[in-house]
Amino acid sequence: MSRLLYIGFDQLNLSHGILRSADPTSDTVLLVESARMLQNPNWHSQRIYFLLSSARHFVEELKLAGFNTIYIQAPTTIDGIEKARKQTGIEDVFAAEPNSYRLTQNLQSINVQISESDFFFTGREDFLEWAKSQKSHLMENFYRLQRKRLGYLMDGNLPLGGEWNFDKDNRLPPPKNHVFPVPPKFEWDEIDQQVMREIAGKYWGAEPKNYWATTRRDALKQLEFFVENVLPGFGPYEDAMPADSWSVNHSILSPYLNNGLLHPAEVVDAAIERFERGDVPINSIEGFVRQIIGWREYINGMYWYLGEDYRNRNQLQAQRKLLPLYHDPAKTEMNCVRSIVEDVQTRGWAHHIPRLMVLSNLALITGTNPQEYLQWMREVFIDAADWVMVPNVIGMGVHADGGAMMTKPYAAGGAYISKMSTYCKGCRFNPKSRTDDDACPFTTLYWDFIDRNLDEFKSNHRMFQQTSGLKRLSDLPETRARAKFVLDELSAGNL
Ligand code: SF4
Repeated sequence: MSRLLYIGFDQLNLSHGILRSADPTSDTVLLVESARMLQNPNWHSQRIYFLLSSARHFVEELKLAGFNTIYIQAPTTIDGIEKARKQTGIEDVFAAEPNSYRLTQNLQSINVQISESDFFFTGREDFLEWAKSQKSHLMENFYRLQRKRLGYLMDGNLPLGGEWNFDKDNRLPPPKNHVFPVPPKFEWDEIDQQVMREIAGKYWGAEPKNYWATTRRDALKQLEFFVENVLPGFGPYEDAMPADSWSVNHSILSPYLNNGLLHPAEVVDAAIERFERGDVPINSIEGFVRQIIGWREYINGMYWYLGEDYRNRNQLQAQRKLLPLYHDPAKTEMNCVRSIVEDVQTRGWAHHIPRLMVLSNLALITGTNPQEYLQWMREVFIDAADWVMVPNVIGMGVHADGGAMMTKPYAAGGAYISKMSTYCKGCRFNPKSRTDDDACPFTTLYWDFIDRNLDEFKSNHRMFQQTSGLKRLSDLPETRARAKFVLDELSAGNL
């Protein structure tokens, strides 16, 4: 039987998804470049480049593997699939489970037959079963089950090294006089050049400069670079934000995991193999494995468990418009924020702590509308995907879900950023002050945020320390006055 196999731009893998069972002698493979995807000028140019160039390179890979392959440019994915049906005369279209609600509905609406995806370690039904059996959805509980189920870093039934989690060793501030590894850059070919010509000048952010691989071969090079040179030091500085290193000791593999060029199992297997060869401390390998088999799987599972409407949650009634500094970092004098947004402009990437504790923290404590902030995050990060961003932003980043995912908000003042980064030394603000003219906006707004949301937080025992601290503030009226000034100025793009 002739089949048309639809491949989304986030399932670019010859061995997984619908291609797992594909037959080049009878199946035709279809990719659709939807114009809808390209319409938004706020998307980061490197994100567009990465998605298009990776997909077009994948078409070449499919052809080399002997598949009859169709790459269609169409107004929407649905239009593209219908056009391919007409062109080939093949009515039966098959796909692996898409990674978003919208695409799932689109494919279902035109009778595409959907089968289970194997792009994650955990099937959606298996995660739902776990989630329904839990009173609270602690990632740590899920992670321990994953370790046992998958057998990674286990010593019989016990965790290797005697602990499940070595995070206490992984919170060091940036080291002095330390040189972090510099990731490889990648050569462009004619496909990359062509995509560059098509997108030049149309989107937000700096144009691509060889930071990102667009083929499986180059993604594997990045994986090898990470396990050989970076993994041993991954753990201790996992949360550190040194201003002079954009990647610190992170793997920067998320774009490839999220578009299918790499599969999580091969990434974990490569890291474990490197660990077994020696000189990788347990806190580094455990921390990395937890990111992949724990956090990544948990976030994907929660996206499907929490449902389609979860993205619209706004429990704290946060209505401020997105601050201008997110699109134009020159609009702020906050050194941490300006530097990190500039990093995002340069490469479409920042590691999890700048995302959570600076960019999202700022959106949280300024009372920025969660949906506006979510939209920005989805537009500018190279590894953004609906399943990644919705739970990470609505649940973790801006606590818009009333604690459905995380029991307390990730709010922090300047003291945290001062301890974990080198940004404060070059900043005109003082992280210790909350009311002076040079008061750090994070420090002022942290207390104002607790104050503004006291009704919401006073019954949350995990916020007891913060709400008690607020009561002891002797300068609360001055803090409120300063906060009002700071919020007005940030909204005007003047601070
Ligand atoms: Fe950021 Fe405040 Fe430090 Fe300035 S003082 S870098 S605004 S945390």
